[in-house]
This record gives sequence, structure tokens and C-alpha cells, in this order.
Amino acid sequence: MSAQHPPSGEPVVDGPSDPELDPTASYALEPRYTARLTARVFATSGESVELRSPLDGAPLAHLPQSSDADVAEAFARARRAQQAWARTPLDERAALLLRLHDVVLDRQDEILDLIVRESGKARKHAFDEPLHIALTARYYARTAAGHLGPRRRRGVVPGLTRVDLHRVPKGVVGVISPWNYPFTMALCDGLPALLAGNAVVAKPDAQSMLTALLGAELLEQAGLPRDLWQVVAGPGPRVGAAIVEHADHVCFTGSTATGRIVARGCAERLIGCSLELGGKNPMLVLRDADPERAAEGAVRAAFSNAGQLCVSAERLFVADQVYDRFVDRFVARTEAMTLGATLDWDNDMGSLVSQRQLDTVTAHVEDAVAKGARVLTGGRARPDLAPYFFEPTVLEGVTPEMTCFGQETFGPVVSVYRFHDEADAVARANEGDYGLNASVYSRDGRRARALARQLRCGTVNVNEAFAATFASIDAPMGGMRQSGMGRRQGADGIHRYTEPQSVATQRVVRFAPMLGMSEEAHARVMTANLRLMKKLGRT
Ligand code: NAD
Repeated sequence: MSAQHPPSGEPVVDGPSDPELDPTASYALEPRYTARLTARVFATSGESVELRSPLDGAPLAHLPQSSDADVAEAFARARRAQQAWARTPLDERAALLLRLHDVVLDRQDEILDLIVRESGKARKHAFDEPLHIALTARYYARTAAGHLGPRRRRGVVPGLTRVDLHRVPKGVVGVISPWNYPFTMALCDGLPALLAGNAVVAKPDAQSMLTALLGAELLEQAGLPRDLWQVVAGPGPRVGAAIVEHADHVCFTGSTATGRIVARGCAERLIGCSLELGGKNPMLVLRDADPERAAEGAVRAAFSNAGQLCVSAERLFVADQVYDRFVDRFVARTEAMTLGATLDWDNDMGSLVSQRQLDTVTAHVEDAVAKGARVLTGGRARPDLAPYFFEPTVLEGVTPEMTCFGQETFGPVVSVYRFHDEADAVARANEGDYGLNASVYSRDGRRARALARQLRCGTVNVNEAFAATFASIDAPMGGMRQSGMGRRQGADGIHRYTEPQSVATQRVVRFAPMLGMSEEAHARVMTANLRLMKKLGRT
């Protein structure tokens, strides 16, 4: 079976001799089902690439590929549909998201099956995705008027200058998403864009295209006119660049290196972009932490979705006083995990997504071991479980010369470091260029929150791995430094898709000398007025 795997883990471009999809392979999908989904790709090129499951290499689908002209046409259609959508009352747009909430929960089993087949992750980690989309849909639907409704702003002349602030949709938003949380990443940034009156052209990663297409089907089932959510497919550098060329705003999630390319393209066109990028996230276990609770959290922090999670912890800094107990419990809990690549709920960790991910993870571990790191548990690929499976791995003695010290592994590999002094732990946690997520474990919430303020990360979770911030949709989520620009979630997550427009109406007085007053006298009156306003405490 492994001979069929594309060597890089990338989908294989079809050639005339490619075998037909074999529906008898264990994780293959019903061809009529995949045909229904792939028909949603806006593509007329006649080309396709084959997609296989990381569970067992089973062929899943032939994905149509969009040409540059297809991307341009997808934007043109989305742009036309957006005109009417922007005039649709806000409560109708919000009602659509509430219907999507229910559709996602109703079709949850189908969503989970597809995510697991396409990504190889454990079903319990796949569940985080419909959960996150339901939370996002409900949050934005229920807060739509607060975020988007017209607002009054203070005018310069109290009572006589009326200022109304409107939120104008930007137009068509391009959403470029990665494969790691295929359902969440394909939908969560587009939902607030839609609610704000925009259309979306989505370019999901090739490896997660079917799940993203199912998301588009669910939106239509919830009542969204089809042209408002276009899906295009093709190689990232070409189709991603075409998205940047046509969009009015780009929401990109992926690696820092690609984010930089997208930002350059957006700068050239003077359009906005929001970038959700990589991380090398620290977890701090303070001297008063409960080692058992911290170990339980560390397992989720490091091994959810086999560590292929932007907010997962790859560096654990543990206080001397609890180090031995914590490491003992963490290793024991890691070794007790059930590993497997199957559709059921039994696995605590599933497979990596591709050969490329397996190569990176293997290289990071081999490099660390060759340079003197100790493997406390794990450390090996497990092709007996699935072609790209790698064991959850805990390293000790990792030093700056090792690749995994500062580079994102994006796999189930975590390094444990001892610290004696909290200030030193904070300084080490802040090392490097990233600043996405952190977690702090302590029995003293106040102390942990004070320490959190010293961490240069966009989100910090106290006594939780990452879910407390990620699932709190009212709170902005994103990275400082090279982990991103802009935020998803909360007010920031929807305002990025709007242009604020201020409309001021002036009554009675004019901004010019009145009643035959000279310019000089007018300036004196205005100066006196400025002094008075300050005295009265006005803003
Ligand atoms: P990637 O940057 O290679 O690809 C991400 C997306 O960009 C894909 O759809 C890809 O096709 C597209 N793309 C590739 N080249 C492009 C180009 N030149 N122009 C435009 N688009 C292009 O990322 P990846 O390695 O597939 O994903 C993993 C990375 O994503 C990790 O670094 C991870 O930390 C990050 N990530 C971040 C978040 C977050 O919220 N901060 C979430 C998930 C993943």
C-alpha cells in the first residue's frame, strides 16, 4: 500500500496512467459523494489532482484545478452577488449563521468522518472543529448588531455636530487556509466576513479540500446564495497569488514564510490582510502548580491533532520544585495514550497528515538526538499504525544548536526545560520570533495572570492548554511578532472586513467666522473655547 503514496505527501497530479479511485479501499469514499463535493470547485481547466487519505493511502477524490481565469471569474461572480447581499438586512444575515449552527450539529457525524479520512487525526480532535464553528456562528449571529449596527460618535460641537459611524463591507474577501483544522480553518474566518456583508472566495489547502467543500455545502443548506461563497483549488503559489490579485481583503492562515509573501502582495495593492501564522508556544508550570493537572494539560497542549496545531505547546518550562513529579506524570500520561488511525472515538492521538510532515518531525527528532537530547518517551515513526504516524515524543536536554529548539516542528514533539527563577522562565519563553499562544499552570490564578502579562503572546491560557482562549469567541485570537497580524474572533475578527465610514451632520454653527467676525476674533473665540472645554473635562 505504501508504494502508492506520493513521495512528498502532496497530492499527485493526475496523468493518463493514474489508477481509478478504488472504492473498495478501506477508507475510500463513495464516488458519488465526492463527485457532489468536488463539483463545487470553481474550475474549468479540465485538470485535476488526486487526493489520498493519510489513514491508509486510500484514494479519496480527484480534485478539479482552477485556472487563473477561473479565479478571476469566481471573484466576478462573488462581486455581483455581494451587491445584493450587502443590502440584505443584518438580522437576515445573522439568521443564516444561526441556521448554519444547527446544520453543523445535525451533520456532525458526516463532518467528523470526512475530517478524519482527509487529515488522519483522532476523532476527538476532529470534534473540536464543528464545535468551534458552531460557537463562532452563534457568537457572531448574536453580536451582529453590536459589532456592525450604526453607532453615534461624539461630535466636535456638543449637541450641534452629529456623527454617525457606519461599517461598510470591503467587498470580496479572499480566505487562504491550511490543512490542519480543515473545517474550522475553511469556515471560521469567512463567517464574520459574510455577516459583515462581504462575499468570500476561499482557497483551502489541497489536502483538506473535501472538508472545505462540505463546509460550502452546509452554508448553502443554511440558505446562503451559492455565488457568495466560491471555492477555488490549485497550487498555493499560483492560486494563492491570484486570490491576492483580486481580493479586497485577504485572510491568510498558514506558515510565517508564506504569510510574508501574501503580505507583500497585499501591500503592493494597498489592500488589508490578516495573517494567522506559526508559533513555538511555551507552557510554564510554576512552583505551586498541581503537577497532575499540569501533566494532563500538557498532553492536550502538545499532542492534540498530533501537534499539528498552531497554538500547541512545543516548549515546557517547569519549576525546579515540581519538575520531577511533573515529568514523571507527563511521561506516564503520554505512554498511556491510545494511538491509532481509525474513524472511531477510541484514539487519543491520530496520524500526521502527510509524508512532508513526517519528514520534518523525524528530522527534528533525529537532529536533537544526534546533538545530545534525551528521548523520555516516543521518538519513532509508527508505520504499523498508519503511513505517516509518529509517536508522541518528549525530549529533555534540548539546546539552542538543535533545530527543534527554536523552529516550529508542527508535530507531536515537545521539549521539557527546568527553571529555577520565574523571571528567567519568562525571558526564555519570550525568546525567538514567534508570539502566538502560551499557557501558565499555577494554583494561584492571580499570580499566573500577572505572569501572563509578561509573555509576548497574543493569547495566554491559565490552567488550560489552548482551548480556553480559542473557544472564547468574544476574545481576539492571533499572534504577536512573527506569529501574525490582526486578529480573528471578537470585534477585531469582524471589523477587519469593514471600512469604517463617518458621516457628520453640522447644525446651526459653521466652521468659519460668523456674524461678520474677523478671522482673528474667530481664532480668539475658538482658543477660549478650547480652554473652557478642557476645564469642563470634555474629551
Ligand atoms: P503554508 O503556508 O504552506 O500553506 C497555507 C496555505 O497557503 C495553503 O492553502 C497553501 O496552498 C497556501 N499557499 C502556499 N503558498 C502560497 C503563496 N505563495 N501564496 C498564497 N498562498 C499560498 O502552511 P502549511 O505548512 O500548510 O500550514 C502549517 C502552518 O500554518 C504552520 O506554520 C502553522 O503554525 C500555521 N497555522 C497557523 C494558524 C493560526 O491561526 N495562527 C492556524 C493553523 C495553522
